[in-house]
Amino acid sequence: MAINIREILFQSTLDKVDAKALLAHLINKHLNWPKSAMISRDTEALPKALLEEWALLEKQRAEGQPVAYLIGKKGFFNIELKVAPGVLIPRPETELLVELTIDHIQSSGKKTPRILDLGTGSGAIGLALAKNLPNAQVTCVDVSAEALQIAQENARLLNLNSVKFLQSNWFDGLTTNLPAEDCVFDVIVSNPPYIPAGDHHLLMGDLRFEPSLALTDDHDGLMAYRAIFKESPPYLAADGFILVEHGFDQSKQVCQLLQEQNYINIKAHQDLAGIWRVASANRAAS
Ligand code: GLN
Repeated sequence: MAINIREILFQSTLDKVDAKALLAHLINKHLNWPKSAMISRDTEALPKALLEEWALLEKQRAEGQPVAYLIGKKGFFNIELKVAPGVLIPRPETELLVELTIDHIQSSGKKTPRILDLGTGSGAIGLALAKNLPNAQVTCVDVSAEALQIAQENARLLNLNSVKFLQSNWFDGLTTNLPAEDCVFDVIVSNPPYIPAGDHHLLMGDLRFEPSLALTDDHDGLMAYRAIFKESPPYLAADGFILVEHGFDQSKQVCQLLQEQNYINIKAHQDLAGIWRVASANRAAS
């Protein structure tokens, strides 16, 4: 008997949201049907090639592979990003960082804000900012060449051609690769690896398949903040602003680290789930 969308969804043991996302991807890829076909054409027979690929994706998802890697993309803020196992999958909670940065820049009245995204991964934060702040000058760095390649491809796909990319371990590669005047920023943002070594979350869900370089510092989860906060001041304009995402239980420690490096106006911000997720601060006047 011919197999159709309705039967596949009825029979699949996958989570229904995941099954629908995977199948919508396949009907777009193989048949170029729109998403609405998931309902409007759900009793039409599907071609063999699609069914074979469905069987493969269903198996991979059942084994735990993230949906975003299987379909190769993920929506973030108001953009869509290509993702692959070399980059962290953008998370909805990270949208808070983007929103706070946009708010800050809009209220600062800066016409051409200079923004640095440290550890950009897929480019999610930097590219969402570039998309929503058309006059911003955005520089994205990552230590991983594989991540940078994906981020650059995302910039091309989104037509954000003025965003700069640089391979660098935090600030290490900046001054050697860019003119000094391009190494001062109004805002520095980062979603660094913050999961402590041995944390059980690393063995759960999507995290098992994501690059450990993007997830953990193999230490106490705070090493990136120590490095970034200590090294940032010369790269921040006098009224420069810094925002970082952190783990669900790290707000106090991250704010403390900002304090130890003499940042001012230190603030903690809650995400939509009510979790303290972002710390922000200004550079101390020198
Ligand atoms: N937000 C990721 C998670 O806990 C961790 C990413 C990171 O360390 N920046 O699922």
